[in-house]
Amino acid sequence: MYVVNKCPICDSAEYLTIPAMIPDFIQKYVLKSKQHICEFCICNHCQLRFFKNRYNDKELERLYSNYRGEAYFQARRRYEPWYTKKLNDSNLSSEVIERRKHLLEEYLRTHTDLSQLNIVVDFGGDRGQFIPKSVGTQKYLLDVSQVSPVEGVTSIAELSDIGSSVDLIICAHVLEHIPDMYQMLCDLVGSDGFTDRTLLYIEVPAEQWEISNFLKTTFYEKNLKTLTSWSVTRIVWDFFSIVARAMFNKVMFFNVIKIHEHINFYNEKSLIELAAKCNLDVIHLGHDHSKNISTQDGNIRLLAKKKNTMQTTSDNESSAGKTKAE
Ligand SMILES: [Zn+2]
Repeated sequence: MYVVNKCPICDSAEYLTIPAMIPDFIQKYVLKSKQHICEFCICNHCQLRFFKNRYNDKELERLYSNYRGEAYFQARRRYEPWYTKKLNDSNLSSEVIERRKHLLEEYLRTHTDLSQLNIVVDFGGDRGQFIPKSVGTQKYLLDVSQVSPVEGVTSIAELSDIGSSVDLIICAHVLEHIPDMYQMLCDLVGSDGFTDRTLLYIEVPAEQWEISNFLKTTFYEKNLKTLTSWSVTRIVWDFFSIVARAMFNKVMFFNVIKIHEHINFYNEKSLIELAAKCNLDVIHLGHDHSKNISTQDGNIRLLAKKKNTMQTTSDNESSAGKTKAE
């Protein structure tokens, strides 16, 4: 892992730090180390919540190659006994896929003209199974895992492989996993094929749990270090913290924050900030507040276009500021 000393979006060095735990699954399967403490931060400026400790390329490869496959499942189940096969498969169940497609289609139908969306790319979209049927006449998948796409979707290695302007890029449930999401998004916006008329749709889970002030005390920090030095305590503590978060959307005084697959936690403000820094103008920002498997507070959805270079910076800032969350 490497450590950042400033907010990954706004570069601010002013943030609140809360000690957090590295669970056994991440230690053994991803890091190959015994490090069991890390730091969770909340940026004072853009409000992004993030882990100061970021996965390097090798660690990302271990975590996401064969993602949710048998080896992943067995390793995770060994240290998280509550992680069942049903949970492992839940994100790719037909029910979840249909629901995600339906919500995305409704959102796009409301905020765009579907008949104008011909060339559609799902960026980081697994096998392209989340692209709604009615969205796009030419469908592409750009995913580093390079798994075989579903029928009707063509896999590409780069956006420029399409050879013409893309109408819509879908980037759903990706940015919460990426260590340098700023660079990744800037590279995407700067690619051939991402033109002034390309729409970018971003969807991230809204995971803004309330955090007990007790976790911000030095007493908690000292005890966290001691208690997390034992594997049994880590596993039990992890379980009770998951239950409390799932039931109450809170990290309570007897709970712990742990690093796992999500390392960035956005709210509306931080997502707008990220878009603006990557040369994007926000067209619409929505928050559906529907409960799902990873969050009690639904998803944040953002629709953007490349910034009009004729506008001044202050014009752009005020237009993003006027965008209302639903
Ligand atoms: Zn920030």
